[in-house]
Amino acid sequence: SAKIAESNRLKKPTFSFEFYPPKTGQGVQNLYDRMDKMHGLGPQFIDITWNAGGRLSNLTCEMVKVAQSVYGLETCMHLTCTGMPKEKVDEALREAYKAGCTNILALRGDPPREDEPWTADPNGFRYAKDLVKHIRNTYGDYFDICVAGYPEGCEEGTPEDELLQHLKEKVEAGATFIITQMFYDVDIFLSWVQKCRDVGITVPIIPGIMPIHTYDAFVRRAKWTKCHVPPRWYELLEPVKNDDVAVREIGRDLLVEMCQKILDAGIYQLHFYTMNLATATRMVLEGLNLIPTVDQVHPPLPFRPSLGFGR
Ligand code: FAD
Repeated sequence: SAKIAESNRLKKPTFSFEFYPPKTGQGVQNLYDRMDKMHGLGPQFIDITWNAGGRLSNLTCEMVKVAQSVYGLETCMHLTCTGMPKEKVDEALREAYKAGCTNILALRGDPPREDEPWTADPNGFRYAKDLVKHIRNTYGDYFDICVAGYPEGCEEGTPEDELLQHLKEKVEAGATFIITQMFYDVDIFLSWVQKCRDVGITVPIIPGIMPIHTYDAFVRRAKWTKCHVPPRWYELLEPVKNDDVAVREIGRDLLVEMCQKILDAGIYQLHFYTMNLATATRMVLEGLNLIPTVDQVHPPLPFRPSLGFGR
C-alpha cells in the first residue's frame, strides 16, 4: 500500500479527481461514462465522497467497486463518523477491501443536517482520528489512510495551533497523507504547509483545487468554505460573470497560475474537486501541460519488425 503517500518523492507532477455519488440512476450512468473518459487523462487516483449521515452509502461502496475493479482506477473511499455505527463502518471497510480498494479518506463528516448540533453515535466514532485508529487496528498497514486538512481553519473559534495539533493527532493515529479543503490563495496554503512541518507533520500534503465552472458556483463555494479569494480574481471574473465560456477561460488561467506556483514550491500532487464535471478540470490540466499523450496512458505494443507491417 502507501502508493499515493509515497509518490510525492518522485518529484513528478500527478493529479487526482474527486467525485460524489449522483442522486439518480441516470446520473450514476453519466458519471461512470465521465469517469471512464477522465481515466484517459491519467489521474493518479480518484476518490468518492461519503454522504453526511451515511445517505447513499451503498452507492459510494458500489462506485468504489466499479472504479477500482472495472475501470482499473486507483480508488480512495471517503468514510465518515457522522451517522455511522461501528457495524456500518466495518461493513464499508470490508466492501472496500473486497473490491481491491487500498485507500480510505477518514473523516469526521459533515453533520446530517447543518442546523442540528452533532453528537457521536454511541456505538460509533467521534473524531476522524478515532476512525483512523480503528482502521489501523483492524487492517494493519493494508490501507493508505488520508485525512482532511484546513489551511484556513474549519470550525470557527478554534485557535490555529489547536487545529494543527488535532491534525497531527490524526497523522500519529496512522494517517499517511493529507488532502486539504479548497483554497484560492496560494500564499496562505504554503505558509500553512510550513506551519504543519514546524509542528512535526511530515506526511505529504495534497492541495485541494476547485476549478471554476461558473461565476455563481465560484462565489458560492468560496463563501461556503470561507476561503480568502485574492481581490484580483474578482476583478477579472466579475465583469464577465454572465459569459460562462469567458469565466471558464479566465478561471483556467487563474487556476493554472495557482497550480504552477504550488508545483514550483515542490508540491507535486494536485487534487481536483471535479464536482462530477470534466471540462473545467481538463482545461486546467491542459494549461499545465499535464495531460499525457495517448501513448503514455496506454503504452504501445513493442515494435515487432519481423511481422512485416507496412509492406
Ligand atoms: P476531525 O479531524 O475529526 O475534526 C473535527 C473537529 O473536531 C475539528 O474542529 C477539530 O479541530 C476538532 N477536534 C479533533 N480532535 C479533537 C479533540 N481531541 N478534542 C477537541 N476537538 C477535537 N464530509 C462528508 O460528510 N463526506 C465527505 O466525503 C467529505 N469529504 C471531505 C474531503 C476533504 C478533502 C475535506 C477537506 C473535507 C471533507 N468533508 C466531507 C467535510 C468534513 O467531514 C467536515 O469538514 C467535518 O466538519 C470535519 O471533518 P474532519 O475529518 O476534518 O474532522
